[in-house]
Amino acid sequence: MASIRSSLKRVYYGAVSAVHRRAVPLHHSPPMVTFTFDDFPRSAYVSAGATLRAYGGHGTYYAAPGWMDGGPATGDRYRMADLHELVGDGHELGNHTFSHVSCRKLTTDEFAAEIAKGHEALHRVVGDAASGNFAFPFGAVTPAVKKAAARQCRSCRSTLSGCNGPVADLNLLHANRMYSDSVPFPRIRELVAGAAHPGQWLIFYTHDVRDRPSRFGCTPRYFEDTVRCAVEAGMRVMTVSEALTAIEAASPDTPAA
Ligand SMILES: [Zn+2]
Repeated sequence: MASIRSSLKRVYYGAVSAVHRRAVPLHHSPPMVTFTFDDFPRSAYVSAGATLRAYGGHGTYYAAPGWMDGGPATGDRYRMADLHELVGDGHELGNHTFSHVSCRKLTTDEFAAEIAKGHEALHRVVGDAASGNFAFPFGAVTPAVKKAAARQCRSCRSTLSGCNGPVADLNLLHANRMYSDSVPFPRIRELVAGAAHPGQWLIFYTHDVRDRPSRFGCTPRYFEDTVRCAVEAGMRVMTVSEALTAIEAASPDTPAA
């Protein structure tokens, strides 16, 4: 039964991947790695953000403003004051809808309104530092939602695993879990080794980063080991926004946004 379900899921997401694409070639781009954080718990900023900066990079934080100052789900959630510090440190603030809602619970128009409301709320706090990059809550996406989100966002990140390249679909960027309970570190090392080539862009996602993480997060050690592994493999640590700018510069005839 489980294998039928996973086969159906594969077919479904294969269909979503095939439509409403915004394909950009990465042929001339350097190998890039991006660390993203969904929701985001404060530890993702305080702990992982400091690690990224120590390695000369920054992260992309996808925030749902309706969860700001809220109670813990995957650890203590971010506060409004964190947003100013976050962007002041050079990290990117992306959008994750206002209410952190799955597109499966709303009509396409309602979901599009959630995306707009999320971005507006972040923009009210940090102005133009609120980027136009977006991540689908729960990784849920349909063809209609993919099309609608593409109109509103510079890029849309999914939770489909794999590397982006040599051609990336900016409307459905692939990303890989950094969950220390369920993704053994050798698997991370394999991913990095497979992606450490020009024309490849590897994106990771996680939630809390602390000594006793939720099953959706990772430990600080696991996080730092991953960053070091990628840097030693010659990958450039970039935010989503920085990576898109690098892609545009490498392929000026095919603007990424
Ligand atoms: Zn989320």
